Amino acid sequence: MARALHRCLLLSLVVRSSSFLNPAPRHATLRLRAAVDKRRSDEEWRATLSEDAYYVLRQEGTEPPRSSPLNDVTDPGTFLCKACGEPLFTTATKFDSGTGWPSFFDPVDGDAVELRADFKLVLPRTEVRCAACDGHLGHVFDDGPRPTGCRYCLNGVALNFVADADDADLAAAVVAREAAAAPVAKPLSTTLPSLAFNVALAGAFFASFAARSDELPADAPVLQQAFAFFPLAAGVFYAYQAAKTLR
Ligand SMILES: [Zn+2]
Repeated sequence: MARALHRCLLLSLVVRSSSFLNPAPRHATLRLRAAVDKRRSDEEWRATLSEDAYYVLRQEGTEPPRSSPLNDVTDPGTFLCKACGEPLFTTATKFDSGTGWPSFFDPVDGDAVELRADFKLVLPRTEVRCAACDGHLGHVFDDGPRPTGCRYCLNGVALNFVADADDADLAAAVVAREAAAAPVAKPLSTTLPSLAFNVALAGAFFASFAARSDELPADAPVLQQAFAFFPLAAGVFYAYQAAKTLR
């Protein structure tokens, strides 16, 4: 578990270091492609993508849960970025998270995605973006299955699926890329906010418990005494979350 969490915490500073079709010149290929895709104007993206895909990929939207047909895909194959066609995930790392969104425990490699801190819901989360075109894909959480412990919760509308049976060359290229996969590393910018958030909440709940326990009369009703321990339980919970961030 510690190893899995460690790998999860080492998610992407994104080392652009190998080529999808030809490992040797991948630096140049990916950089050129990324440069082209990241230079596209908003109008170009709007003209290229469907309305739903544009909303998710370029406006950081979220598709309704259980709306994507990709939830049911189990055939061996590759999930590509719908905006730029970059291979991102494979069926081998896909699992049923029960959330209603396509979920994976690992990308093709560390070159495939970029991770960023996201505060749109106030609570810090880690956003997943396509490294090649900067398209928003979803978020990653640390409650996934082994071996990584990560759950990449993605929008199906941001992905295209190509079965291995329909494109043997793509399947072979992805296998080669996975064999030389750069590890995914999580930037400090995505771990520090979570750590600070959990430490602050743990401290607040422990302080609240200390204050309430001093004021609580010895003959207080059992229910009131039990309720006084809620801040302590909450403090322990957030302290545990902070410890998980550090591992
Ligand atoms: Zn992309």
